[in-house]
Amino acid sequence: MRIADIRATTVAVPLEAPLRHSNGAHWGRFVRTIVEVEADNGLIGLGEMGGGGESAESAFRALKPYLEGHDPFQLEALRFKIANPTASLYNNRTQLLAAIEFACLDLIGRHLGVPVCDLLGGRLRDRVPFASYLFFRYAAGEHGEIRTPEQLVAHAAALKEAHGFTVHKLKGGVFPPDHELECYRALAAAFPGDRLRYDPNAVLSVAEGLRFGRAIEGLNNDYLEDPVWGLEGLRTVREQVRIPLATNTVVVNFEQLASNVLRRSADVVLLDTTFWGGIRPCVKAAGVCETFQLGVAVHSSGELGVQLATMLHLGAVLPNLTYAADAHYHQLTDDVIEGGRMAYSEGAIAVPSGPGLGVSLDREKVARYAEFYRETGGYPYDRDPGRPGWYPTVPNERFADPDISVDIRP
Ligand code: MG
Repeated sequence: MRIADIRATTVAVPLEAPLRHSNGAHWGRFVRTIVEVEADNGLIGLGEMGGGGESAESAFRALKPYLEGHDPFQLEALRFKIANPTASLYNNRTQLLAAIEFACLDLIGRHLGVPVCDLLGGRLRDRVPFASYLFFRYAAGEHGEIRTPEQLVAHAAALKEAHGFTVHKLKGGVFPPDHELECYRALAAAFPGDRLRYDPNAVLSVAEGLRFGRAIEGLNNDYLEDPVWGLEGLRTVREQVRIPLATNTVVVNFEQLASNVLRRSADVVLLDTTFWGGIRPCVKAAGVCETFQLGVAVHSSGELGVQLATMLHLGAVLPNLTYAADAHYHQLTDDVIEGGRMAYSEGAIAVPSGPGLGVSLDREKVARYAEFYRETGGYPYDRDPGRPGWYPTVPNERFADPDISVDIRP
């Protein structure tokens, strides 16, 4: 089996509502690049990457001369062919490599008639539990604004009712810490048997991170995720707050993982199949974490069904996955895979059992959402549609006003 062609298609899939975060917002849709790697035997492997447009599509086209004739089974060679670590200073292709790795694993699985998790050691679980990823949101359509503790708790209760979540993650860093603390405490009070995690995307000052961490010490926390920026900032918080610290920002490669093993800043490493360069590097990193008794969880950088399948196969094989995974997935209104969105049951999603990643493209949906991308285009992730002229700083000194309702609907 040899790689014969690579195709990349940008799609935009609507979210229920714009999702606010410390850097700005997801403006009401996810823009993703769907990658198809076709082999000379006619099989097609699927990949996915965040973002899109002409620059992303041309970056994949530019890989064709590197990959034409490559055997998809040769995954280590693939890594050095396109993301040699000593060349990556000049051509960081980690995310491109990840999408191609997904597609090659999909091809291998389809070729052999086995699911990807069977190529990675075999599944230890058939379902991967997820947290209810909660965002402050702008209003859209029939969905009201989520800004106050009452609105947030009502939203979490609706998600729990619909999907069965028993772990709740609050994406913060939008409003002043005191307001977000009130929201977090309201979640704890509303769901006393459930577990919680808070992630302000590293924008708190160390002093605010310490204050927030100490204030939630008595709650049923999984961990405190990236309260502040940097390994040194996290270490300072970790030394003074009795909650495990997690990161998806400053332990995202093996060099940083080594630093974190030698001088621990984070207790839990959030593995992202895109940012680590594929599913296999995440499995390797989880092995290092197992050796050094670090926790792991599955990170979400926004996903459609192809990426979600990579997260499910990863989650299926990790013995040390003791935390629920994160996914933005329930915030979407649709998907581009056959059968529509995968379903949550009791807060978990079943690991696909078909060959390869176990998902196929719904061609009509891909065409529809490629057209939606052409109509709507990209959006600046690091700008906030409700605050024209604002830009983020770290630590953030200009949080949004929690007392003011902002309606960005035209
Ligand atoms: Mg995070």
